[in-house]
Amino acid sequence: MDYSKRKDSSNSVFADPNSENNDEEKEDLCPGFKDADAFVKYGLGAVLSATKASASLPQTGDEYDFYRSFPGFQEFCERQGDKLLQGMSQIMQHHGCRSHMRDRNKLTGLEERFDLVVDSNDVILERVGILLDEADGVNRSQQPVLPAGFQAPKIVVSSWNRKGSGSGSRSETFRLLHAKNIVRPQLKFREKVDNSNTPFVPKIFIKPNAVKPLPSYFTNKQIRKERPEDLDVPAALADFIHQQRTQEHVEDMFSHPYQYELDHFTLTESLLSKPQPLMYKPLDETKCSFIETLEDLVALNEKLCKLSEFAVDLEHHSYRSFLGLTCLMQISTRDEDFIIDTIELRGELYILNEAFTDPAIVKIFHGADSDMEWLQRDLGLYVVNLFDTHQASRALNLARHSLDHLLKHYCTVESDKRYQLADWRIRPLPEEMVQYARSDTHFLPYIYDCVREQLLDFNHGQPGLLQCVWNKSKDISLKKYVKPIFTEESYLELQRKQKRSFNTQQLTAFRLLFAWRDKLARQEDESTGFVLPTHMMNKISEEMPKEPQGIIACCNPVPPLVRQQVNELHLLVQQAREMPLLKAEIAAQKKKGLTPIKKADVTLFGPHDTSRVSESDLHNCSTDEMPIKQGMLFAEDEPKMDVDEENTSGLVAKAKITQFEEPETQNDPESLPVGQMKARRIIESFENPFRMYLPSNNVHISKNAKFDPSSKIFEISKRWKLQSIEQQQKELDAKKKAKEEKKELTKKVADERKKAKQSYQESLQNVPTVREQAAESVKPGTKRERVASDVGESTPKPSKKLLKSAEKPEKTEPPPPEPFKPFDYRKSDLKVFAGNKPTDNTQFDPNRQSNDFRKKKKPKGQKSNSGGGKSMSYMAGKSDRGFKHNWPKR
Ligand code: AMP
Ligand code: MN
Ligand code: ZN
Repeated sequence: MDYSKRKDSSNSVFADPNSENNDEEKEDLCPGFKDADAFVKYGLGAVLSATKASASLPQTGDEYDFYRSFPGFQEFCERQGDKLLQGMSQIMQHHGCRSHMRDRNKLTGLEERFDLVVDSNDVILERVGILLDEADGVNRSQQPVLPAGFQAPKIVVSSWNRKGSGSGSRSETFRLLHAKNIVRPQLKFREKVDNSNTPFVPKIFIKPNAVKPLPSYFTNKQIRKERPEDLDVPAALADFIHQQRTQEHVEDMFSHPYQYELDHFTLTESLLSKPQPLMYKPLDETKCSFIETLEDLVALNEKLCKLSEFAVDLEHHSYRSFLGLTCLMQISTRDEDFIIDTIELRGELYILNEAFTDPAIVKIFHGADSDMEWLQRDLGLYVVNLFDTHQASRALNLARHSLDHLLKHYCTVESDKRYQLADWRIRPLPEEMVQYARSDTHFLPYIYDCVREQLLDFNHGQPGLLQCVWNKSKDISLKKYVKPIFTEESYLELQRKQKRSFNTQQLTAFRLLFAWRDKLARQEDESTGFVLPTHMMNKISEEMPKEPQGIIACCNPVPPLVRQQVNELHLLVQQAREMPLLKAEIAAQKKKGLTPIKKADVTLFGPHDTSRVSESDLHNCSTDEMPIKQGMLFAEDEPKMDVDEENTSGLVAKAKITQFEEPETQNDPESLPVGQMKARRIIESFENPFRMYLPSNNVHISKNAKFDPSSKIFEISKRWKLQSIEQQQKELDAKKKAKEEKKELTKKVADERKKAKQSYQESLQNVPTVREQAAESVKPGTKRERVASDVGESTPKPSKKLLKSAEKPEKTEPPPPEPFKPFDYRKSDLKVFAGNKPTDNTQFDPNRQSNDFRKKKKPKGQKSNSGGGKSMSYMAGKSDRGFKHNWPKR
């Protein structure tokens, strides 16, 4: 343990912040504790008992609302809530996180405050992870993939192409805060990225080295650009629309511009004859130029045109762009290396077509399949006379066909592919990345010589094998870039790849999510993996959470756009739930022991499931101030309400506490007007999962209802009281066993209780119904407040003793602080962390699901990444999910 860690823990909330005595190390570590072990024991004990206590709090949906109607309980909750919030603020402040937890009365701030907690957890866990790694001897900062200086927190505007697009756009665009963001290069592009759902049309407009001239469609590009109706449309889309309209040149538009030249390309004698391998120059003796101006690019092109071969490679970024971005081009001649900024020179790189399509110049690539597509898509570049060393490696049947392996095999160079997945958008490009990039092409001309020689040797000097590689390479250069096109069936392709069986509803959810993700990705120019990774999309489709929070719970970490549009997603999932299930599917689900997910089944209540009761509904249950007429707002719920009930609608609170309603009597959300439904969902989305632990002043239950035998509250109240009697009896029984001498006394007490119970039952029978009480309450001169607040006086009092436990919260004073006793965690029952209540399997439990999911995702044997791995932050460009999953392993 090093000093910094000790200092951290000495400042923690458990410790005395004033004692920072460096001399007395043990004291400094944990004041008041013998050693770290003692401190941990105490800490665990405290956490354990707090968890135990919170797990035994009344749960929402059961007794909670009833308990809330007791002022004592309310006060207690409020006090504890304040304490908790204060503690949280302290912890957050200690860790330098923003915390404004005090203004907890504002409903609107809930979501923001929830985010604050999540962010702080991130920071703290990250720190814990780093410290644990450090203690483990791992120094994570020694492997920078994004060099320091490029990770400064920045706010970026996620909507692309909107920079300076007029006034007011700022507030309309989404603003995402990420710790590791890079300015979006797309903002600099002169020609907008065309993410429209239309086929790709080549960018080319001049064709060097043409045998067959470029169709007029492409040469007229400049003129077409001036079509006034196309002003707001990306050029390629405008062309497409124009072509569709006029039905001109359709064939030309989609053919390979160099198809003819490639078809008629013949290998010269020299390309098939045995070369004399020309050794590469050592890296440190080779000039390396960074090309970022048009001038330099033109000079480079002139240089290249004089050569007989050069090597090319590209670096690409795919996470924060829909189609992907070519970020860098490396070119190596026998004497020099060039690194070209293809972001800066994106619009100018087409000039290299002069060298790239010259059939007299060999272009050496390694694994050019993607490169061919990227060149066309972003730069309008084509290759005539390609040699792919990857194809050569295959033909030679080498052990592996990666560039690393060729470098080892022919150049005895150990390459470090660490930067392959680096974020190549970074500018200025760090030196390490430049070095990495140039080594991708630097050795290729020499490897080209070696493999050609070997291919000929392999075939006893016959050119067949080498010819085969040339042909394969030509096929690769004939590849055309195809833009991903969304169709109504696209989702099925993806679904088929996953070996999951979805029922009708789940498949519908998957289809809707897929469409949402595609649309948003195109619109925001983000990869689909960034918007919503496929594994999360599967999870949501599988679970079909009933509430927005459930959707969030399916995602770890939560993608920013999912968080932003959780309501939209929630609507989609709800839409999927409304699909009728096939009979076989219902049967299959029953077999699995699951309740079939049906529309009528939206009555399950998870801890945060408020899909049936909204905050606004609860407000309206207020007995006291609510104008009587307002009860009619909800008259739809109970159309048979008679006059009495109408007058006392405020008292018929049970109708508004949906937890107490039977499913059949619940109002169908479909029957609500669209506006109300939307409002309800918006309000639901603000639901704070911690709400049940916070005192809320919004739950109102008419106390009279507790004494109305026809009401659910009455039933619960009765059950609760009986339970409390049982509880007491149990306790007494336990005492009986322990102390036999008190046996008699105990008996007496039990008898007394029995009697009391009887008298209580009797007394309950005399309690007037809600209706009677209401009638009483509206009599002139009777104040309504009295009915609501002072039930005891207007109803016969049950035995005082029996009410005692109900009144208890009012009377309890906070217990005096106990003298410190170290907790022995060996004695503790760790099961209490699971909470008191057995969870219903059919019920969606966000925590359970996400834990399972996390476990499953983690490959076996992988060392815990500690805080870093658990962090919910979204790391731009470097997330393993969403980025890697788009890529076949090379
Ligand atoms: P390379 O040809 O190896 O330099 O790779 C070119 C680009 O392809 C890199 O900049 C990456 O964007 C991408 N790439 C290569 N290999 C992988 C991989 N295994 N996973 C994801 N992306 C890759
Ligand atoms: Mn490459
Ligand atoms: Zn590369």
